[in-house]
Amino acid sequence: MTIRLTNSKTRKKEDFVPIDPANVRMYVCGPTVYDRAHLGNARPVVVFDTLFRLLRHVYGAEHVTYVRNFTDVDDKINAEALRRQKAGAPGTLEELIHQRTEETIAWYHADMDALGALRPTHEPRATEFIAQMIAMTQGLIASGHAYAVEGHVLFRVRSYKDYGKLSGRSVDDMIAGARVEVAPFKEDPMDFVLWKPSSGQEPGWDSPWGKGRPGWHIECSAMAQELLGESFDIHGGGLDLQFPHHENEIAQSACAHPHGDFAHYWLHNEMLQVEGKKMSKSLGNFFTVRDLLDQGIPGEVIRFVLLMTHYRSPMDWTAEKARQARATLGKIAEFLGSDPLTKPRGDLRYAKPPQEFIEALSNDLNTSLALTLVGKYLKNREEFSLVGALRLLGFDIERLKEQFASFSVQSYDNGVVSGHKISALGESAWDQAKRVDEYRVMLEARRTAAMSSKDFSGVDALKAKLIAAGIEVRMSKAGVELVPGPDFDPTKLEALQ
Ligand code: AMP
Ligand code: ZN
Repeated sequence: MTIRLTNSKTRKKEDFVPIDPANVRMYVCGPTVYDRAHLGNARPVVVFDTLFRLLRHVYGAEHVTYVRNFTDVDDKINAEALRRQKAGAPGTLEELIHQRTEETIAWYHADMDALGALRPTHEPRATEFIAQMIAMTQGLIASGHAYAVEGHVLFRVRSYKDYGKLSGRSVDDMIAGARVEVAPFKEDPMDFVLWKPSSGQEPGWDSPWGKGRPGWHIECSAMAQELLGESFDIHGGGLDLQFPHHENEIAQSACAHPHGDFAHYWLHNEMLQVEGKKMSKSLGNFFTVRDLLDQGIPGEVIRFVLLMTHYRSPMDWTAEKARQARATLGKIAEFLGSDPLTKPRGDLRYAKPPQEFIEALSNDLNTSLALTLVGKYLKNREEFSLVGALRLLGFDIERLKEQFASFSVQSYDNGVVSGHKISALGESAWDQAKRVDEYRVMLEARRTAAMSSKDFSGVDALKAKLIAAGIEVRMSKAGVELVPGPDFDPTKLEALQ
């Protein structure tokens, strides 16, 4: 089975040929750990987790090394630590910085675990590789690719002839188009920082250029070299990182290790968007993975929605997609949990994904086709194919059975019969759940209409009616959730017009 991947470096879909099939190596740029991950940050996690799982399937689990870093040197981390110190928190600034990164990493793990993402083989933190970053910077100065000035070390972009190849731009175009930091000590406006001085309270490390800290780009180059070597197979990250971050990583690594060729395949996921704009903290149009989990949207639903769109297409999160995903997972759970006598016998531990399914994923990670095939196996009641396919996509079968067979009931039955399967409850709980969901769709439609008409009276009237029936109404940017509470009284819901 040949995996084919679209390589940003060549802009072509290519056969994936690893350097060493006994050790397939992948590096993915990880988060800057200053706050909770937003849903956009989860997209590369789920995309590259799926690729990691496919590689493990094809080459063997012990023959794949996956590195995803934590960037724990950042102004926003320092700012939060300083804020806490000013507010009277005990400890030195360094301790408070450490505390902030520790708690953010713990949140990140909890949130990404909930999405079914495997932990990478290595999760290096930038602060643990400062010595390697300093050594790499020294080497670049010695070979003439970098220069030290006023406590800074800068990479001499014009010394690397292939600069701009990955993103397909010339240096002059980049200067014209990019917001490059102009500093009087730079030889050329394109030159970027490898090392910079730390002032006063900022955390810093001793270096030949004084107390300072590394630039962001050198962190990834140094950690990739240390953990994967001078040449490795795949480098991934969001498309927003292609320029300048990945361009700079390539320049540094190629010049520091002229005998290696850094990453052979560059993969970039497109952005998760909100109304046509990249979801990002700086635009303020974001919600976190934890927001969704707290609203009662299971991690499996989030994972399913993220896989519905191919990684190289932009995508929107919508409440409607979450509803579809939840409905499909509910049907899957119901089928998998149903009477085994109606299904073929055999040990599901050995269920394997069918060849056509592996082919779909191997074709540049076509997860939307893979999910269509999952739908087909469900429809045809092919339990072995279904289980094999879902597992490879990162769904835990036992959890699906537990979570989703009882899921609608737990949300809609006001707690009386929670934990039981829909199929065991007869029609009424199902019908009730469906009716509540119809109100949800109606409320969402009214809200959308009210956004343009600016007349929210219809929304308010329906909300009041739902609340009077004992339903908690949760409205957020991510959509509308209706959660029947302990006082839920279905008779107070009149029939829909
Ligand atoms: P950051 O912490 O912002 O450096 O981002 C961590 C990872 O999330 C990087 O691989 C980014 O490319 C990716 N990322 C950030 N925002 C989005 C988004 N809206 N959609 C998809 N990926 C994103
Ligand atoms: Zn990186």
